[in-house]
Amino acid sequence: AKASGRNNFEFYAAEMSGAIRDELALREGLRHAVARSEFHLAYQPQLDMESGRVTGVEALIRWQHPERGLVSPAQFIPLAEETGLIVPIGEWVLRTACFQNKAWQDAGLPPFIVSVNVSARQFRERTLIAQVSLALRDSGLEPRLLELELTESLVMEDLDKALQSMKALRAMGVQLSIDDFGTGYSSLSALKRFPIARLKIDQSFVRDIPGDEEDKAIAKTIIALGHELNLKVIAEGVETEQQLEFLRAHGCDEMQGYLFSRPVPPAELAALVRMRAGE
Ligand code: C2E
Ligand code: CA
Ligand code: CA
Ligand code: CA
Repeated sequence: AKASGRNNFEFYAAEMSGAIRDELALREGLRHAVARSEFHLAYQPQLDMESGRVTGVEALIRWQHPERGLVSPAQFIPLAEETGLIVPIGEWVLRTACFQNKAWQDAGLPPFIVSVNVSARQFRERTLIAQVSLALRDSGLEPRLLELELTESLVMEDLDKALQSMKALRAMGVQLSIDDFGTGYSSLSALKRFPIARLKIDQSFVRDIPGDEEDKAIAKTIIALGHELNLKVIAEGVETEQQLEFLRAHGCDEMQGYLFSRPVPPAELAALVRMRAGE
């Protein structure tokens, strides 16, 4: 028993150090990924529930790792946050999304918004406002066609400073939205002060519709709250017709999810927009 106990310990120790080595290697890889052009963006369409048209697209980062293949952002965004690499990576995302949307506009597509996820570390940096302004200037994209997705926790970390940054971004003409709404801890008194245009209902509240009564109540309440505050409400993670019908019946403005499309490369996105515009 003693021997096997030791073996177990050695087994766990070896496995653990393996996991740590793994993370270190990933970190190291992350450091060079921008310069080595290993990132690309996938774009997921957002549809107006009534007209069925594409009103926006969310830019989602993808890392094509030379040895590991596609690494999920759920895996490397937290690492990028910890190391501060999110700042240059986030800037790359911002610029790529702006240039891409300008290219779609120049190709004659009807105008739609490109949404970019902003992480806490990136939002805290003073350079964010300058990065946004340069990305817009260099790409020539109209500011109203760029949206930044912020999370509640990010904004609540330092509310006064966040409100200041949000106002500066709004003054540039950029749109703001609150992502994963309902999973964070923003207060309603803070929410009413945010200069935002949209709330995104987190997919955790959409997943179990129509089976889960609480989730249905939460989704309905977020829609009603958003409308009372004059905000548009979009649901993410919509996978089934039943979810779509429920959200539509309760007045949700827009939807995003696998039911219509997964995140896709730029050319495919353009084709989806054209199809929905009735061309
Ligand atoms: P998020 O911002 O909540 O993005 C939505 C996630 O849900 C995306 O995962 C998307 O592919 C996925 N999704 C969309 N529709 C459906 C659906 O119908 N069903 C299901 N099950 N999933 C759906 P993804 O692309 O893996 O991104 C994960 C998270 O990584 C994002 O969550 C976001 O927090 C972060 N992320 C992605 N790209 C960026 C980026 O450029 N910058 C930053 N800071 N974070 C990013
Ligand atoms: Ca998002
Ligand atoms: Ca989410
Ligand atoms: Ca439940």
